[in-house]
Amino acid sequence: MKAKYDFLIVGAGLYGAVFAYKAKKAGKSCLIIDKRSHIAGNIYTEKVEDIQVHKYGAHIFHTNNKEVWEFVNQFAEFNRYTNSPVANYQGEIYNLPFNMNTFNKMWGVTTPDEAKEKIDLQRRESYVKHPQNLEEQAINLVGSDIYEKLIRGYTEKQWGRPCTEIPAFIIRRLPVRFTYDNNYFNDPYQGIPIDGYTAMVERMIEGIEVKLETDYLENKSDWDHLANMVVYTGPVDAYFHYQFGVLEYRSLLFETEVMDTDNFQGNAVVNYTDRETPYTRIIEHKHFDFGTQPKTVVTREYSVEWKQGDEPYYPINDEKNSMQYKRYKALTDKEGNVIFGGRLGEYKYYNMDQVVEAALRKADEVLGNR
Ligand SMILES: Cc1cc2nc3c(=O)[nH]c(=O)nc-3n(C[C@H](O)[C@H](O)[C@H](O)COP(=O)(O)OP(=O)(O)OC[C@H]3O[C@@H](n4cnc5c(N)ncnc54)[C@H](O)[C@@H]3O)c2cc1C
Repeated sequence: MKAKYDFLIVGAGLYGAVFAYKAKKAGKSCLIIDKRSHIAGNIYTEKVEDIQVHKYGAHIFHTNNKEVWEFVNQFAEFNRYTNSPVANYQGEIYNLPFNMNTFNKMWGVTTPDEAKEKIDLQRRESYVKHPQNLEEQAINLVGSDIYEKLIRGYTEKQWGRPCTEIPAFIIRRLPVRFTYDNNYFNDPYQGIPIDGYTAMVERMIEGIEVKLETDYLENKSDWDHLANMVVYTGPVDAYFHYQFGVLEYRSLLFETEVMDTDNFQGNAVVNYTDRETPYTRIIEHKHFDFGTQPKTVVTREYSVEWKQGDEPYYPINDEKNSMQYKRYKALTDKEGNVIFGGRLGEYKYYNMDQVVEAALRKADEVLGNR
């Protein structure tokens, strides 16, 4: 019997939406299902007090891939937002990424040579030949002042343990810039969709049937009968009933508050780099859009241990989880007519541009466009 759809797309996030767009364009019929009550997955934005709020964490689109940039620009007009976070260390404000503005504030130096000299001196003073942990590694790379004020507390909150207990290999390099440039990214293309990511995804999947609040795994075989092929962007371990164990993540907790002021912190992203402040950063959403609304919405972001059932955010790239994922990956390769894609389907930290690129490539491969 002929299936009703060519593709069943599990997950209305960016991967699923890009794939669905390409399939529809190639004349294929698609059904998208998502267990959440909204489309757009983790890039979902919703308006609060007329401000686009990034519900699952701040999202800045940046890429060096022209094809990807042109692709997303078909569905949204992007503003000129440039990510320039600042660090608040016990009330002292430093620019990020580490650059001449940071070094000037830290040491009063004004030229690149002075800054290099200062960093080299600090690195030499505490140099450890074979760094055994993240603390030793970070000091080797940037010296003790930057480590103490801008790395230590933030990293300990992110990982939930002291830097002396985090392996050294986690940081191979720490970018330092000897120019007065606060732009966090080096990519040539950067911005945020003017009317939010949700509207961008909505346009991508225009004309495609979507069913929300629908969990594929609860009725898998019924859904499978509906389509010739499945694009699965949910967690790969759940698909295989956790038979090799649960893949672990680091999770986040977001505390969002509407404030009766028009400007709370003067910047979209402020990182709190001391150990004592419990959250890692505060996002003030209106500054992503140069908003002039009378109120403001802020989100405090906490890094928390993940347990099964929590929202999974960052895959853990340690040996145990990598080995476990390899075993699942071998099963995905044998699963006929199912494509596993996206951050959960491939257990991989993907930036948005990488997700778009991966979905475009996969669609071209499957639909035979190239
Ligand atoms: C805190 C944070 C900040 C980030 N900031 C940036 C940034 O600034 N710039 C950047 O480029 N990238 C950023 N990213 C990465 C970005 O979020 C991802 O690249 C992108 O969201 C991945 O899209 P996806 O489609 O793979 O996954 P998702 O958006 O998670 O979509 C998967 C969808 O599948 C659904 N699903 C899962 N299981 C089932 C099931 N059984 N049945 C039905 N539906 C199911 C889910 O509900 C979800 O909607 C950030 C990530 C995090 C965690």
